Amino acid sequence: MNIPGELTPSQRILLGPGPSCVHPRVYQAMAKPIVGHLDPEFLQVMDEIQEQLRFVMQTRNRLTIAISGTGSAGMEAAFVNVIEPGDKVVVGVNGVFGNRMSDIVSRCGAEAIRVEAEWGQAIDLQKLEDALKQAGQVKAVALVHAETSTGVLQPLEQAGALCKKHGALLILDAVTSLAGLPVKVDEWQIDVCYSGTQKCLSCPPGLAPLTLSPAALDIAQNRKTKVQSWYLDVTMIASYWQDSSRAYHHTAPINMNYGLREALRLVQEEGLETRFERHRRNSAILLKQLSELDLTPFVDESIRLPSLNAMSIPNGIDEAAVRRRLLNEYDIEIGGGLGALAGKVWRIGLMGESSKKANVVYLAAALREILG
Ligand SMILES: *Cc1c(COP(=O)(O)O)cnc(C)c1O
Repeated sequence: MNIPGELTPSQRILLGPGPSCVHPRVYQAMAKPIVGHLDPEFLQVMDEIQEQLRFVMQTRNRLTIAISGTGSAGMEAAFVNVIEPGDKVVVGVNGVFGNRMSDIVSRCGAEAIRVEAEWGQAIDLQKLEDALKQAGQVKAVALVHAETSTGVLQPLEQAGALCKKHGALLILDAVTSLAGLPVKVDEWQIDVCYSGTQKCLSCPPGLAPLTLSPAALDIAQNRKTKVQSWYLDVTMIASYWQDSSRAYHHTAPINMNYGLREALRLVQEEGLETRFERHRRNSAILLKQLSELDLTPFVDESIRLPSLNAMSIPNGIDEAAVRRRLLNEYDIEIGGGLGALAGKVWRIGLMGESSKKANVVYLAAALREILG
């Protein structure tokens, strides 16, 4: 029998597209004793998390919970509960995650009407409106707030009103924005919003915050067909999270929830505005330091994300070799480009705990040494 050696992962500085660095208090919370998933002490943790999530998501929606699974489980839950076969869904596609949403819509047996923009651009609201006018009755519009594959921030202020005007729900992917930049679920009239724990919340991957407006919940509760996914059926999950019966549905990942509770406590202690300002400030410092190395941002300033900085790679650089050296010699992880942007950009994440001036200065110094 071959017994693997003791696990000794390196202390990486995670400046990629996620996961981000984890605060020691979150690790400590996750190492606390497990209790049963119906233990009154754990039920209290679940209640606290719901309140904490309403705070970061800036919503009063009653159905605000953490889905067991990563961000993609949150995405899948967002769609399978409100979309039925034959529905039409307008999906903004300007990167990997818009594509993934469109794929899920088709798997629901619905029609995905793709409104595309070039990678590096935001979705044009005029084009969305044109699609809505042309399509007839549309069940929902889906947008990615922070497109992690390109570093684009989708402007949202008018999107909610546009959807309401056309009687469509607004579904928002806030995986790389939540707790790093404002996500105002109620003010922006978002009906379904999901996120993940390992980006700006700085928790390990494993849970997906999800909130449904009363209108979206009403649709989920009055479907003609059963939700195709037993595991992600929010009406059943909600009776575990919220009903007085606390009916068993699945065993919640107890210690992951401990971690999320602590990560959310850190967000509450810092305050949302202070945290957003920190993300903006460190992104600005990064861009300034990298400009001295002749590295330029890939995305226009007006739609640039502070949490995910895509940098154009100058010609003649072996970009994968640079990332390898960063990892092996400096313990720094940054991301390469995905899909259409493979080999063209580096993706530098400054999310949650990773968004620190010391990390930015260290990365810039390492890149200066490597690039000469
Ligand atoms: C990371 C990410 C996801 C998927 O989350 P996983 O935790 O990898 O499943 C979805 N949408 C966006 C915008 C992301 O950045």
